[in-house]
Amino acid sequence: MAEQQKPASLVGRKNIYQCQECLGIIATVDRDAGTTPFMIGCQVRSGCRGRMQSAFYRVFDAIQPTFEWYKPDEVEIEKLDAGTRHHVDMGGLLLRRIPNNLAIADAVKATLPGEAAR
Ligand SMILES: [Zn+2]
Repeated sequence: MAEQQKPASLVGRKNIYQCQECLGIIATVDRDAGTTPFMIGCQVRSGCRGRMQSAFYRVFDAIQPTFEWYKPDEVEIEKLDAGTRHHVDMGGLLLRRIPNNLAIADAVKATLPGEAAR
């Protein structure tokens, strides 16, 4: 059977965006297949009007993402404004903050000594 060439998936890949105004940084992870924008509005400080620029996935894999890119379901798509819906129709993903309890659990886990360290 001939093997099919599939485009490399970006699912699970991490990225960083940095704000050009306040220099704040967020780490993201792609939960679904789709496209992500090169520039996004600042997610770090409320009221900051800066734009955050993508690092094009050139990041260390050990970073802990605090935001995720995801594909909205039918119910959520219904609620989107026209511009955002067009973005999703074109294969674009949406950004949301990863629930805090998950991020905190990961952060706590990272500080615990491993079995081998004792
Ligand atoms: Zn900012």
